[in-house]
Amino acid sequence: MLNSSHKIKQVMEGSPAEQAGLTPGDIITKINNVELVDIFDYHYYSDDADITVELLHEDGTTSSVFVKKEEGEDLGVIFCNGLMDDYKSCSNKCAFCFIDQMPPGMRETLYFKDDDTRLSFYRAIMLL
Ligand code: SF4
Repeated sequence: MLNSSHKIKQVMEGSPAEQAGLTPGDIITKINNVELVDIFDYHYYSDDADITVELLHEDGTTSSVFVKKEEGEDLGVIFCNGLMDDYKSCSNKCAFCFIDQMPPGMRETLYFKDDDTRLSFYRAIMLL
């Protein structure tokens, strides 16, 4: 799925991504010719040494960039959406739902009924 969730928010200084010329605002469309769905795809397909990253730039142009890196080395980008995909919401309608019982006027994200198991896996991976 190609969307703004794949947009780069930050490129880490000294990273392979910076050396290859990736910049904030670029959208990663493919790695090694594979379309990415979410952050798991990103980590899986960017794990190889020497990868090809296809980009959609803010001005609408596209480019293909060869990134030289070690196997397992992080590419060095942070995405605008940490999951690189829409978050899946709970479809239950529990009568006692703690989200529905929250007082009004709080931060908007506190009202989101998160039911995306990928977030649990992702947190576990990031803690390793
Ligand atoms: S967020 Fe939790 S409590 Fe609320 S409806 Fe979903 S499962 Fe039920």
